[in-house]
Amino acid sequence: MIIETFPVGPLQCNCTILGDEQAGEAIVIDPGDEIGRIHRRLTELGLKLKQILITHAHIDHVGGALKLKRLTGAPILMNESDLPLLKIMEMQAGWLGIATPEAAPPDDVLTDGLNVGLESCPAQVIHTPGHTQGSVCLHFVPLNLLVAGDTLFAGSIGRTDLPGGDYGQIINSIQTRLLPLPDETKVLPGHGPATTIGAERESNPFLRTT
Ligand SMILES: [Zn+2]
Repeated sequence: MIIETFPVGPLQCNCTILGDEQAGEAIVIDPGDEIGRIHRRLTELGLKLKQILITHAHIDHVGGALKLKRLTGAPILMNESDLPLLKIMEMQAGWLGIATPEAAPPDDVLTDGLNVGLESCPAQVIHTPGHTQGSVCLHFVPLNLLVAGDTLFAGSIGRTDLPGGDYGQIINSIQTRLLPLPDETKVLPGHGPATTIGAERESNPFLRTT
């Protein structure tokens, strides 16, 4: 398997390419920006894009999705509870002072429990509302890997002061849906360095129960 994670755009959102060399297929998670670079890399690797997966509809994660879809024909998948955020893309661009990217409703929905991704390496969708109402994490069980979007960071959690954010809800999502995963599960957050479920359970200051 090919797993490449690199930050894109002004907010340095972690974009991930996950590819199966044997099958010649890939998925891309959170193509927020720098679509030319992402598309070039897929071409270099000789991989056909099968799905574009969006952890949540903040501009830094979803901003380039439609452009990538037009270049590759791959469908965009997102949780339906973030549809209201797509509709305020202009406002989101205003928060950052950048141009409004074109956005379109997803082709399919990331519902809790659904299996998505590559046949050789499926991911289970875990709905983790709180940062936004439609935030999801993608659990690649065969890889012991969780792509966490902006729900869980190394030593921190996603902000909840933007529209659709709810502090109690994000804590509950992490406590009930993510911390039960095995300690050795590698976590790729939406921004910043990777971590593990064990390390966050142990030392994340937002998750202390006492
Ligand atoms: Zn976000």
